[in-house]
Amino acid sequence: MRRTRSRSFPVLMLTLAFFAGIVYFLVNLTVHSAEWVSKPYNGHLSDSTGLEFAGRITDRNGIVLARSEDRKRIYNDDYDIRCACLPVVGDDSVNNSTAIQTLYRSELSGYDFIFGLGTPDKLKKGNDITLTIDSKVQTAAYRALGDSKGAVVVYNYRTGDILCMASTPTYDPMNKPEDIETNEKYEGAYLNRAVSSSYTPGSTFKLVTAAAALEKDRSLEHREFDCVGSVEIDDKPVNCFSVSGHIDMKDALKDSCNAYFATLAVELGRPCMNEEAQKLGFGKSWCFDGIETAKSSYDVSEASDYDLGWSGVGQYTVLETPMNMAIRTSAIANGGVCVVPHLIKDMDGDLLSSAADKSSKPERMMSSETADKLKEMMDYTVKESYGKWSFSGSLDVCAKTGTAEVGDDGIAHAWVTGFTTDESCPLAFAVIVEHGNSGFSVAIPVASAVLNAITENG
Ligand SMILES: [Zn+2]
Repeated sequence: MRRTRSRSFPVLMLTLAFFAGIVYFLVNLTVHSAEWVSKPYNGHLSDSTGLEFAGRITDRNGIVLARSEDRKRIYNDDYDIRCACLPVVGDDSVNNSTAIQTLYRSELSGYDFIFGLGTPDKLKKGNDITLTIDSKVQTAAYRALGDSKGAVVVYNYRTGDILCMASTPTYDPMNKPEDIETNEKYEGAYLNRAVSSSYTPGSTFKLVTAAAALEKDRSLEHREFDCVGSVEIDDKPVNCFSVSGHIDMKDALKDSCNAYFATLAVELGRPCMNEEAQKLGFGKSWCFDGIETAKSSYDVSEASDYDLGWSGVGQYTVLETPMNMAIRTSAIANGGVCVVPHLIKDMDGDLLSSAADKSSKPERMMSSETADKLKEMMDYTVKESYGKWSFSGSLDVCAKTGTAEVGDDGIAHAWVTGFTTDESCPLAFAVIVEHGNSGFSVAIPVASAVLNAITENG
């Protein structure tokens, strides 16, 4: 009798463990099945894309970007719109990891928990998704970038609506190039550079150094400096593009004086620069509608004074994605609190709120006084340096360019970030043209073309 009892205990435990396992599996199945089924490693998807009956994807004006007909995925009739929207919409594959058709494939296909992938055809009904992007604006960005590699982000810093999140190179989802893996022209074509590529920010980072100074001591806006075209730090030169003479912070930003901001970064010191960069979004990634941006990075803990100086002008090891930069700029436009963007305007069923749940929360990045001061300085920079004409449209723009030195081929990346001050059209933006060589003559015209496309569309 005793022996039987001593044997029955392990059997009971095994039985309990078995049922606990079943419960664990069923709970997971219920919660995650829709997600599992659309994973690329699901062999059952190999002979079908999972998009045969998927819902429509439309832009903010109802232009259909993708739909399913006769078990086939059809994209917009216009070649440029197809190419321009690919980084956001995706293609039949799941190679574009941040694209809507990759992230929301099960929602689009209307995956059914009861039938799984075997839902009878006549019961199949996908969910529609409306995006915040404007396909005309997205196409204007694609055309303005031309053969260059780069990215454009424009979003409304009041509502968070992303109007444009363009990335080149791209390709036609209806006719994918056969040499996409081997032709240098298509290098990184599966990446949406706006959210997934981190670049040296160059002089656009002077806004961060300026913010660090203003947050520490408001009177530093009047800090004066004599620029002779370079400054020695650790007995090594930090060179400027020109000789600015006697300047304060406002003129240093206007002239993009490296000597001024490198000296300022060294004076503020490593802990202050690290802390301020962190407040402005460095060291973190942002999440919106399930899309996660690559982390921006700034860390001068181990830097020499010379490197600390260069970090203050956005060189050294500083890296930032175009989207992270646009979010940082939105805080300047928005009284110091950043606005988290979003890409999905509407989705069938309860799916919209679940997309919103996957988004980061807005953060105060700086005081409203600092934001207003930076805004004033960016406005002054456009008026006194670039010329208001450089943004040829009807909008008033505050901006800062960057020409970021990069190691590989020696041709700098061209940047511009900024925002419009018109309350009826409040837009924050960031543009990068890889190896574009000049923020002023290459990145500003791209930004200008995209902003014009927005005002022309009304
Ligand atoms: Zn200078």
